[in-house]
Amino acid sequence: MPVFDSRSFKNHEQVVFCADEASGLKAIIAIHSTALGPATGGTRFWDYAAAHRKIAPHDIAEKRGEEDAIYDVLRLSRGMSFKNALAGLRLGGGKSVIIGDPKEIGNDDLMRAFGRYIQRLSGSYYAAEDVGTSPAMLAVASQCTEYVCGLDDVEFGTGDPSPHTALGVFTGIQAAVKHKLGKDSLDGIRVAVQGVGNVGRSLVGHLLGAGAVVSITDIVDANIEATKKLGPVETVSLDGIHAVDCDVFAPCALGGGLNRKTIPEIKASIIAGAANNQLECEGVEDKDLQNRGILYAPDYVINAGGIISIEMEVYSEKTEDDERRAKVLRIGDTLGRIFKASDNEGRPTGIIANDMAEHIIQRAKQAKLANAAE
Ligand code: NAD
Repeated sequence: MPVFDSRSFKNHEQVVFCADEASGLKAIIAIHSTALGPATGGTRFWDYAAAHRKIAPHDIAEKRGEEDAIYDVLRLSRGMSFKNALAGLRLGGGKSVIIGDPKEIGNDDLMRAFGRYIQRLSGSYYAAEDVGTSPAMLAVASQCTEYVCGLDDVEFGTGDPSPHTALGVFTGIQAAVKHKLGKDSLDGIRVAVQGVGNVGRSLVGHLLGAGAVVSITDIVDANIEATKKLGPVETVSLDGIHAVDCDVFAPCALGGGLNRKTIPEIKASIIAGAANNQLECEGVEDKDLQNRGILYAPDYVINAGGIISIEMEVYSEKTEDDERRAKVLRIGDTLGRIFKASDNEGRPTGIIANDMAEHIIQRAKQAKLANAAE
């Protein structure tokens, strides 16, 4: 199975494959860069073979699922390097994936086995919550490692990052609306939110509070019902959300939703949402979006609110809520700079953001090398 040859392998510092026979743990930890600080990023728990099992024999489905997991962890960990760099954090980029259905195998023994693997990395990787894991599951892992963050009820613990991520996405939508539509207010702005889980639901709360007109969808009915309690929202079909006639499309489910099939159907003039890896194929769809005149807020820039709050936990620093909020709200300024550079240079926002992040990481690498040589 290709790792170095994978199209998402981009000079990662370390990739660790973890297995524990007793608990059934199969996981991959990818450290993309530690130039800016310890590699920090969430742990995704996902049954990668599930989609393949519907169309392929069991062994082939499992093999394809593993390939997808490698692709995902490599791409996500590089995204974390870029995210942390552009958010101005003292954190490098890493990510981990646990392979399997968390409902079936996500028990305490497995999380402890995973924690032991994180501990072996001696602090070069810090894990946090992501799709399929929760602060409670990571608390179990933390019985075997000190390198877990986003925990509740511990000293310096910052808890669930989702509300901070949602605030960051909200401020990013405001910046995009200002840039593209010239409006200072979201009053009457129509937003379609794909996925109303932890982040999406909190985002809907902010949007309704600002007077936006909101459409939603989700594969889980209970999440739709919980969101309806926040105020008036229109529910649309799963396969129609990207094509809603609106101003802003906010992908807040899983990645890959912006592709050659969906992009021609998008009516919004802005895409700004929380999901990681929204572009199915980086460098392709961002150009398509630009050609269609759609302003794309790069995913790892707009969804940095959670990791901004987590930085303080990694460094065991106590920060007031106001200070943390101010840091999250700076996401709007960063996006504003990216949008302007994109206009000036005629290059897609995603490419501009990648270049800015690479520049910050390279500068940090060179400074480290220079320090080591002294
Ligand atoms: P979550 O699992 O709580 O919510 C995801 C929601 O999307 C769920 O309600 C799920 O039912 C729904 N969903 C899944 N597939 C869907 C589909 N095809 N169509 C519509 N809905 C679908 O996860 P979350 O924490 O809210 O994160 C959402 C996204 O934001 C993820 O891509 C995550 O990686 C990213 N993100 C989250 C954070 C955070 O702080 N939680 C930070 C940065 C990025």
